[in-house]
Amino acid sequence: MDLGLANRIVVVTGGTSGIGLETARILLAEGARVAICGRDRERLRSACSNLLEKDAASERLLARRCDVLDRSEVNSFAAEVAQWAGGRIDALINNAGQGRVSTFSETDDEAWRDELNLKFFSQIFPLRAFRPLLERSDAAAIVGVNSLLALQPEPHMVCTSAARAGVQSLLKSLASEFAPRIRVNSVLLGLIDSGQWERRFVARADQSQSHEQWLAALARQKGIPLARLGQAQEAARAIVFLCSPAASYVTGASLEISGGVSRHI
Ligand code: NDP
Repeated sequence: MDLGLANRIVVVTGGTSGIGLETARILLAEGARVAICGRDRERLRSACSNLLEKDAASERLLARRCDVLDRSEVNSFAAEVAQWAGGRIDALINNAGQGRVSTFSETDDEAWRDELNLKFFSQIFPLRAFRPLLERSDAAAIVGVNSLLALQPEPHMVCTSAARAGVQSLLKSLASEFAPRIRVNSVLLGLIDSGQWERRFVARADQSQSHEQWLAALARQKGIPLARLGQAQEAARAIVFLCSPAASYVTGASLEISGGVSRHI
């Protein structure tokens, strides 16, 4: 199936690692022009050389340092993208972020504020800054990268779960407000073996466990029907589909990529 992404212009926030990096890689392979951002300059450099290793021409990739929680940095990033892309983009993928492990008893007010700020404003600032560029596309789409925690909260990730539910509500509202010009969808991720799980592996309690053993035990403990964590590329493929013209009649939808771990109908 042709996804219709050739020469489309796509912005991926947090495109320097894990799911965002794999999303950028697939988009480039599909012929799209891709702009990525992240906070860490070294990670940006290494993502660029990684993405340009294969066959992507460097003029099809723009990589800029930008903290999505800093409104003026997001506005400057959007201005640079506008200049590079000729005033229009076709898709925005709001992917930057991470989860927070803490129960209600362990979460103080500052942690609540940080987490709500991260989850909401990592969507809101890019949405505001890039909306005028999306309005100029004939096939505009937004994909919010969200978590299954939005529908299935976990007590050990109490504020992340609550914030995820709020973001899901926001995206559903936008699917109506931005229609018919811009489609808005989300992916609800289960456990995807990328940046945040790598960090938790490094901090694991039993340091004698290999990466493979640790992942297998995690999949068993979480009761994942497909018996493994997802790969970043598996999440990225769903994101790429939703942002592509091939999903032209899909809006207000959420696609679960969880290996079957969701328990609701
Ligand atoms: P990674 O840690 O591998 O990648 C996160 C990316 O976001 C990096 O490029 C990071 O770069 C960037 N980033 C983080 N904060 C900011 C910021 N404030 N401004 C700009 N860039 C930022 O994570 P994953 O690939 O695992 O996760 C991608 C998204 O999916 C995240 O939002 C995560 O919460 C969500 N998710 C992941 C799940 C999983 O199991 N992996 C499950 C559910 C949701 P840098 O640090 O240099 O800024």
